[in-house]
This record gives sequence, C-alpha cells and structure tokens, in this order.
Amino acid sequence: MTPITIFRDKKVAVFGLGKSGLATCAALTAGGAKVVAWDDKPAKVAEAQDKGVSTGDLKEANWQEIAALILAPGVPLTHPAPHWTVTLARRNEKEVIGDIELFCRERRARSPRSPFAAITGTNGKSTTTALLAHVLAKSGKDVVVGGNLGTAILSLAPPSQSRTHVIECSSFQIDLTPTLDPLVGVLLNISPDHIDRHGNLRNYAAIKERLISGVSLNGTAVVGVDDELSASVAERAEREGTKVVRVSVRRRLEKDGIYLDGDNLVDMERGQRRNSLSLAGIGSLRGRHNAQNAACAYASARALGLSAEEIAFAMRSFPGLHHRMEQVGRKGSVLFINDSKATNADSTERALESFDNIFWIAGGRSKEGGIKNLAPHFSRVRKAYLIGEAAQDFADTISGKIPFEVVKTLDRAVEAAARDAEVAQLIQAYVVLSPACASYDQYPNFEVRGDEFRDLVLRLPGVGKP
Ligand code: ADP
Repeated sequence: MTPITIFRDKKVAVFGLGKSGLATCAALTAGGAKVVAWDDKPAKVAEAQDKGVSTGDLKEANWQEIAALILAPGVPLTHPAPHWTVTLARRNEKEVIGDIELFCRERRARSPRSPFAAITGTNGKSTTTALLAHVLAKSGKDVVVGGNLGTAILSLAPPSQSRTHVIECSSFQIDLTPTLDPLVGVLLNISPDHIDRHGNLRNYAAIKERLISGVSLNGTAVVGVDDELSASVAERAEREGTKVVRVSVRRRLEKDGIYLDGDNLVDMERGQRRNSLSLAGIGSLRGRHNAQNAACAYASARALGLSAEEIAFAMRSFPGLHHRMEQVGRKGSVLFINDSKATNADSTERALESFDNIFWIAGGRSKEGGIKNLAPHFSRVRKAYLIGEAAQDFADTISGKIPFEVVKTLDRAVEAAARDAEVAQLIQAYVVLSPACASYDQYPNFEVRGDEFRDLVLRLPGVGKP
C-alpha cells in the first residue's frame, strides 16, 4: 500500500466504494487522514464499514471541515451531469480529485525522481501497460503495475527510486488528476469513445492530452501519431519543449521515432536506423494494433533505461492478456483464440485482420451497426458460428458471403467449429471467439464468456496448451 500522508490530520471525503475507493480509504487512513466515506449503494457502505472504514452520509456532512473530495473514476464529474457530491464540493469550494492525483502528490513529496510511466489511449492501454511491466520485470527491475488495470494504484507499494510504477490511466482517471506528471507518458491513439461522459470528442481528446502535457521536465512522451488528434498532441508537446518519441504503424518515419516495417519495429534517431526489433512469431502480439502497443512499450522501456536487446528478449515471453486474442489451446494445426473482449465490430476487425482460415464464433448482444463494416475481411473466414441474440441479424449480414450455422450457444459453437477446422486439414487454422457483441444476453460479462470458451476448448479431446 502507498500511505497518503499529504492530508495528515485533515478530514477527507471519499465517494464511490468499489475497489479503488476502498484502497483510497485505507491509504488515507494509514497516512493519518480522517476519512468520511460514502456510496449511493447501501451495500457498498455496509461492506466498507465491515472493513473498518469510517463512513458518513456526505449530504449531511459539514463540508467546511472537509479538505477534499476523492471521487471514484466511475462517478460522473461533468457529464451527463455532475454527481451530487461534486456539486456539494464545488459549492463549498473544495477540490475534487482521484486516487492517481493522491499518488502523484505523495510521489512528489516522497520520491519525486522515482520512475513512473503512465499509459493512456482509446485502445490498447491494458496490453501496453502489461507488456511494459513484463519487459521491465523480465529485465530484473522492481516493477509494480495497476491503475485502471488490475490493482488500484494506492494498493501498490509506494514510489521509490528503485521501483518503477507502470500505471494504466483511463480518461475518467486523468480527468480527476490535475497534476499528473509521469516520467514517461504514453498516448497510444484517440478515437471517439465515452463521449457521454466527456461531452464531446474535443473534451475527450483534451483530457487524454493532459497525460502528455504533464510529462515531467526530464521525461519522455511517447505518442502514436496514426490519428490526427494524437499527431497534433505530439506537435504541441514538442513545441512546449517535451522530448517526444513518435510511433507509427502506418507510415515510415524519416527522422526520429519508431515505425513498423513488415514484422519489424524500426527505431530511428536523427535519420539513422538505431535498432530494429522483430515481432515475428510472438503469438501474443499479432496484428498491426499490437505492433502499436509493442512500439509504445519499446519506446517507454528505452526511456526507462533498458537496452534494445533486453527489450527484444523480454517481449518474446509476453503471455498476453486474457480475452484479447489469447491463445488458449491447440490441437494439431488448429489454434483456439479467445477474443471475448471484442465487444464491438471495431475490436473484432483487429482479430479478423490478424488471422486467416478463421472458424469464427460471433454473436451476443449486438451494438449499433452490427458487423456490416467487417465485410472487407469476410474472405478470411472459412465459416461462422452464430450465437446469442444477434445470431439472426448477423446471419442476414453474412448470408451468401460466408458459410454459417446458427448454433445459438457457445458450447455448440466450439464443438462445431473445432470439428470443421480439423476436417478442413489446413496447414494452420484458427477457431476464434471474437463476438463483436456484448455478452449480457447470455453472460454476466465478457470475462465469464471468455473463461467458458477456454474451458470448453480445453475439454475437447486431444486439445493441449498452445
Ligand atoms: P484497453 O485497455 O484500452 O481497453 P486492451 O489492451 O484491453 O485495450 O485491448 C482491448 C481491445 O482493443 C483488443 O482486444 C483489441 O481488439 C483492441 N486493441 C488493442 N490495442 C489496440 C490498438 N493499439 N489500436 C486499436 N485497437 C486496439
């Protein structure tokens, strides 16, 4: 845990008692603050009380005595409307911040030169965060990883010169972190997302930009420049004097930065090739999107002092994250891929681009537009197995273009796809669960769906580890 001492002897309100909220309460208490915690859900308040957290209804609190409101990132700060606690805090001229802001302040007070990498972007945050942490750990560094991914930041060991924090930041978290100042800041990409919570694309992009404009004086900003919004963030940061490393997986960079050439990441410095790193054969980093993640992790690890050789060696053993084009089993030439995290057509497009000879399991609760946009990739699919509410709609879209079966449930889909892939006797075939749909019609969430897929695959006769 990272005790937060900067509010010692002060009263601090904490709203939102999920995992990060409870960690915040514990860290503030350990640092000597007096916590008043609350949640709109009585069960969450009761759970906090059971854990020894001191709770109190913030509607009835004396806000004059409160130093700050620490808000959980899932609670609306501005859109669609500020949460009632935010309105109360503002009316009483109290600041509203999040747990990553507490970490940043504590770090500045305690160990300002400690290595701290912060990662954001619309897509690829978790993969890049996990990959960078893996590379650092494999190279012998003391590294802690969390934030939006996995462990809440304040549950991690405290910052110190010999420990690297690798922190995934969502836009909601950045919005609550006015003095975010990483040593290495990564912005992967920006595309429209969470507009309901940020009002419009401009606001959303401006929030993401804060992670880059905050990069500390001796730090490095790593920016994917394949979309216009991110490219202009890189320009502005450079104009402000920040050291910027550009990353592109779409075009050659002539002067400085990292770009993708075939399967190789090419590291350019002042017009010279400094290094080249091959991604060929790394099953957990298939596809152009993962090349962007790998290039950003490479640039960050370089900025944190690792050699190109160390990084190349470590990347080869990256296991990947569950449910994101995860290799879960193999039977002869058939590889089984769990991409349950692909809950919309854009994500599924990444998977369809990354394989061929695909036996594709899709469906669930459809998003607007369905899978029409995936038509350019249909030629890579041998056959589709349709499940869930979207099955009929998807069948209408692919009819006449891809052979398909409406199988309704995942168990039948796995059985049929495995059978067909084996019978086809291809040099390499892929059974891919990439639903392009939410899971809620049949599962509590995409993780449960992906876990079931893995279990079903591993129960098939003759299937072993990939
Ligand atoms: P995030 O944490 O930002 O949601 P993840 O690393 O969990 O991202 O990846 C989620 C999905 O997003 C992946 O399954 C893949 O379909 C897609 N994805 C991953 N990286 C990228 C990228 N760099 N660009 C575009 N899409 C990506």
